[in-house]
Amino acid sequence: MSSPLFKTVCFIGIGLIGSSLARAVRKHGLAEKLIALDISEKARTAALALSVVDQATDDPAQAIPEADLIVIGAPVGATQAVGEAIGPYLKAGAIITDVGSVKLAVIRDLMPSLPDGVTFVPGHPIAGTEHSGPESGFAELFEGRWQILTPLPGSDQKAVDKVVALWKGVGSEVEIMDPHHHDKVLAITSHLPHLIAYTIVGTANDLEGHMQQEVIKFSASGFRDFTRIAASDPIMWRDVFLNNREAVLEVLQRFTEDLTALQRSIRWGEGEVLQKRFTETRAIRRAIIDAKQA
Ligand code: NAP
Repeated sequence: MSSPLFKTVCFIGIGLIGSSLARAVRKHGLAEKLIALDISEKARTAALALSVVDQATDDPAQAIPEADLIVIGAPVGATQAVGEAIGPYLKAGAIITDVGSVKLAVIRDLMPSLPDGVTFVPGHPIAGTEHSGPESGFAELFEGRWQILTPLPGSDQKAVDKVVALWKGVGSEVEIMDPHHHDKVLAITSHLPHLIAYTIVGTANDLEGHMQQEVIKFSASGFRDFTRIAASDPIMWRDVFLNNREAVLEVLQRFTEDLTALQRSIRWGEGEVLQKRFTETRAIRRAIIDAKQA
């Protein structure tokens, strides 16, 4: 039997994404030992009870020195603190990756704490749910989904290859991308839709009492789909917007202009403009289904 890809993997943040990856790593036999390093006692207790990891601690000294691979799955706003906490304990040759939804800010916040001989391979799985915590994770989360990696220039290619092998090993397809480009693409495909969902659901929540009840009662008419996204973790999303500010503001400006143009078409009864736009967007939905990303 061939030896696993990694001996010991440490998951910093054993929440939805961290615990899903830990489950998938175990399922596919990609590591010998799994450790959770998490500040949440509740998460550590649950991860152990669910046998997601072999060991759980809040002390970097108990987890980091033996780790060959460290996966940071804490909210992106915690990256600098995580780096400062683990930096002194990293062993030479260790590989670090992360799953943060923003890449430039994570690189900026982590790199100053990393000693020589350690390779950071930033990453972002395009997979997730609106739930949080280790109880919500599942091993199949990444199967057939994209994993974006944004390796830094001059990185140790063997380390990058091992992180690629990890994600392929859990069933993902891997795309290598520049981190700046990642943040721009995700601003439109993920961050803006979340902002819109938070806004719509917030607007409904501000309506008078009797209207609010009808929003719930008749939610199947479109509102319901926004509420799923708007139920996503508040801390995670606070950190995404604070850490991808420029890209989100740029795409939000374009969106606002397009919304205003549609508003104008409605005001002036320009049915053909509306129909043309809705026909174009329907084709995009069909392309997503064809690409098996629906
Ligand atoms: P989650 O379920 O809330 O889990 C995060 C865990 O990290 C929590 O247990 C949290 O503890 C812990 N934590 C916070 N600060 C820490 C620190 N300094 N050191 C160690 N542990 C710490 O979050 P998630 O949904 O898995 O998201 C994790 C990351 O994945 C985020 O960066 C997010 O951008 C990215 N991501 C999420 C999704 C998604 O759909 N959820 C998809 C792709 C990528 P507390 O609860 O006590 O804070």
